[in-house]
Amino acid sequence: MTNRYTQDKAASAEILRLILQKAAGHPASFTPPTYAVWYEFLTGINPPLSEAMNNLLNDNEQITGEITQGLFDLHISESNPEAQKAFRLNMQRVLGNLAQFAETTGGETGRFSDGLQKYGEKLTGKLDTPMLKNLVSEIMQDTQTMRSSVDALQGKLHDSKSEIEKLQQELQNARSEALIDPLTGVFNRRGFELQIKKLAVNADLQDKKIVFMMLDIDFFKKVNDTYGHLFGDKVIRAIAEVLKAKVKGQDSVARLGGEEFAVLLPDTSLQGAYAVAEHIRQGIEKGKIRRQEKQESVEGITISIGIADCDANGDWTDAMGKADEALYASKNQGRNRTTLYSVTS
Ligand code: GH3
Ligand code: MG
Ligand code: MG
Repeated sequence: MTNRYTQDKAASAEILRLILQKAAGHPASFTPPTYAVWYEFLTGINPPLSEAMNNLLNDNEQITGEITQGLFDLHISESNPEAQKAFRLNMQRVLGNLAQFAETTGGETGRFSDGLQKYGEKLTGKLDTPMLKNLVSEIMQDTQTMRSSVDALQGKLHDSKSEIEKLQQELQNARSEALIDPLTGVFNRRGFELQIKKLAVNADLQDKKIVFMMLDIDFFKKVNDTYGHLFGDKVIRAIAEVLKAKVKGQDSVARLGGEEFAVLLPDTSLQGAYAVAEHIRQGIEKGKIRRQEKQESVEGITISIGIADCDANGDWTDAMGKADEALYASKNQGRNRTTLYSVTS
């Protein structure tokens, strides 16, 4: 595949000088990701990264190590290195095959045009009928060979095109598999963390709060034990649907594992998040889930919720820990309730 860094030594030295000059005014230390972020920004080869950097710089933001890492993860590093590698290798193979084939056909084309010239020369000489007949049959033979070559090349091009499309689709799937929980279609932990990192580098949110909501199904083991694991999965999916339906467009829903969910609410007050949480909790409490094979519905499934907030570019692992503590306070106080971290601390 193509090399994204095409600058020659002199140009890259000039870029290095620029990076040192520009990045020196910011607190991030000179790690390889810092270098890559500034390199791609200053050369303009990565438009989404440039846009994010320009937003930050226009707002006079300090580009910290954390912001740099966020930009690097989001805009430069690949979301699934293994899939990327496989994709590159396969693309190389497809293109290699094609190039080799085109070369063979090129040889064929060359011979064909040499042949035509030769026939042209022969035609200017003196020819009797049998010689002319021979010549015509030779030309026809060559034309036939040439046509099969071109047909084969066309077929090969067509195959390669579908193979490339298939590879692209696979890469796309691998990308979303790496970020999406297959059971519910909401983010998995990795996708959720990526969403948080996006917020940390979003200039519009720099002095805003973000809220974390942790949610856990109550007595879920009993649901599984009573109705079976498949029904348990159905409950997990139904709860993900309620979460998706009750949050706004900029909020992110994730299944962190098992029967535990998280919601990320950017630019929201704790009180606002509490209202959303109660809405979710009551919606689930009132819900009924059908058991397919028995003509009956299961009622009374509940969840417990914990909430905490932090600055958009603050210590989000700490905030998630606090939301988790609040969740466990909800469990200890009898479940089916929402607790704000500030109340428990
Ligand atoms: P608590 O109210 O304290 O949260 O009790 P709980 O029973 O919900 O909690 P516990 O952590 O003891 O049990 C969680 C259960 O969730 C155990 C596990 O079998 C089940 N579980 C985890 N992942 C899945 C899943 O993907 N599908 C199903 N059906 N069950 C799951
Ligand atoms: Mg749990
Ligand atoms: Mg539970």
